[in-house]
Amino acid sequence: MIEFAKVLRHSELLAPPAFERDSQSIEYRQDPLTGVRCRLNVRRARRPRQGQEPADISQVIQKPSDCPFCPENIEQATPQFTADLCPQGRIKRGQSCLFPNLFPFAEHHATATLTHDHFLPLDGFHQQLLEDNLSAAAEYLAIVHRRDKAARFPLYIWNHLPPSAASIVHPHVQILVERRPTTYQRRLLAASGRYFRKAGSNYWQDLVAEERRRGERYIGDNRSLSVIASYAPQGNREVQIIFKEASNLLDLDERQTSDFAEAVVKVLRGYHRMGASSLNLSTFSAAMGHRLEHYSLNAKIISRPTLQPFYKNDAGFLERLHYEADIELEPEALARALRAHF
Ligand SMILES: [Zn+2]
Repeated sequence: MIEFAKVLRHSELLAPPAFERDSQSIEYRQDPLTGVRCRLNVRRARRPRQGQEPADISQVIQKPSDCPFCPENIEQATPQFTADLCPQGRIKRGQSCLFPNLFPFAEHHATATLTHDHFLPLDGFHQQLLEDNLSAAAEYLAIVHRRDKAARFPLYIWNHLPPSAASIVHPHVQILVERRPTTYQRRLLAASGRYFRKAGSNYWQDLVAEERRRGERYIGDNRSLSVIASYAPQGNREVQIIFKEASNLLDLDERQTSDFAEAVVKVLRGYHRMGASSLNLSTFSAAMGHRLEHYSLNAKIISRPTLQPFYKNDAGFLERLHYEADIELEPEALARALRAHF
């Protein structure tokens, strides 16, 4: 039922300096659920990058005295929830502190620090940091859900370092609860519903079963979830984490939260080993309140350009204006590299 559609095309040219005939292959792949397309020419990873010499990044990651997320400033510099929402003002778990986003783009929009450290490399995040952060996020979701039944669609997102669009270097995540799903989330929910009506089964669990059978993009699993490299990624090094028994973020119990933290930490270690330093993570959750048979809670992690001055962005006209990605690393090669960490 799951179709991994692809088309292979070739581009011919005479390559300098000898101007011999060169043929490069471009693979167009379609996401099995949404049909969203990406294209892949692995030789593009070898193209020249002007101004991309390795650089000293200490200036960027150095702790400024006024970082609002550092422990000595956080009480004075970050906002508090109103007393009716959260009488303590902020939610604290381990090194995580969760508070309202000072410049929100949603009715319910919180920020949560991940660590007391101003900077951590990707292999510096240990499981407890993520677990505490997710548990603070869960408490926030539960509070919002109790008070505002119209706010149903939760998002847990993490931009790490400026190449991922993070404005503050100090590691932090954002938690949103919205009345309506994002355009892409709505598409996932609708397509999963159509698949269920046609196939009589849950797309996400079928996808994991098929990827496990094929083995090429399957990375690993634990008690609560499975991890695969996306067949038709929208970002470089795109990894999907698919829960076995949850359709929304509020469903997660302690064990599932801990298993999620474990999987994320393993992906981060793999990224670090591959030379990545910046990333985006987002969950894709159904509405809070009841479990959907046709949808499984899932998350995506993608790597972003390495932190360095004048880095080359990886989102150009194709990604930003045509919603189609130009991918440099084969998902199958990514799976092989990450499998060692699972
Ligand atoms: Zn800081």
